[in-house]
Amino acid sequence: MNVNHVNIRNIITKTKIPNADYTVNPYIGCTHGCVYCCAEYMARFSGHKGEKWCSFLDVKENYTFPSDKFQDKTILISSATDPYNHFEKQFEKTRAILLQLTDSSAHIEILTKSPMVLRDIDVLKRIKDIVVGFSLSSSDEIARLTEPFAPPPSERIEAMRVLHSAGIVVSALISPIIPFFSDYQPIVKAVGKYAAYVGFENLNLRGGFRAEVLALIKEHFPRMFLRFASIYNSRRAFYKYWHTRELEIHEFMRTMGNLPYKMYFFHGDEKKV
Ligand code: SF4
Repeated sequence: MNVNHVNIRNIITKTKIPNADYTVNPYIGCTHGCVYCCAEYMARFSGHKGEKWCSFLDVKENYTFPSDKFQDKTILISSATDPYNHFEKQFEKTRAILLQLTDSSAHIEILTKSPMVLRDIDVLKRIKDIVVGFSLSSSDEIARLTEPFAPPPSERIEAMRVLHSAGIVVSALISPIIPFFSDYQPIVKAVGKYAAYVGFENLNLRGGFRAEVLALIKEHFPRMFLRFASIYNSRRAFYKYWHTRELEIHEFMRTMGNLPYKMYFFHGDEKKV
């Protein structure tokens, strides 16, 4: 891993991401190696053109923290890295940002795949309005292939339990739902005891990661490959597949009592495989 320190001016930036006004990415790059990572395009825009995503990490330094309290705004930590990637243990950049936000009036949302967030329970308790979201896509077995360097989903669910019992609000984002491989129902049943809400997001293959995802399915699940690829072969097939999954999720969530949920499904065009 090529680790650098880079000076930047702003650590909080405006965003058009749904449900957020600002994002904070304490690092450029990541360490989890998710095959479906849609942040991989960031390599081109951060002086790492030609470098493989998750082979470098820039640690952001020397920024001035805004004095704005961000009243009624939502700040997402993070959108293009995991704020608790492996190097957070050493550099504590996310912890430093949370400490800066303890007097903020903003709604803060963390999104992570790591139980390392438990280290910061003391700070999380001092923030007025915060939700710790865990990204969960599949079982431990599938995640070993699709998120090879991230902590297993079972450890994330255990971290949710610990945070919940410490009085911290937690949520789950079932993302991405990978056709045939993301058995989301047991995950939602497991997290339903702790999560204030869950979100669902489908896998799109519109980025540079498309070839890698298809190659992984072909290598490890050759008998599933044609069925998998056919979903991404035409707009019609894509829409039909995900529309059906969406209806299934609504049906399933009716069995989950009053657990609130949000759909972040992408229905747009898909290129030919
Ligand atoms: S944790 Fe998020 S940012 Fe990091 S590689 Fe995985 S999807 Fe990308």
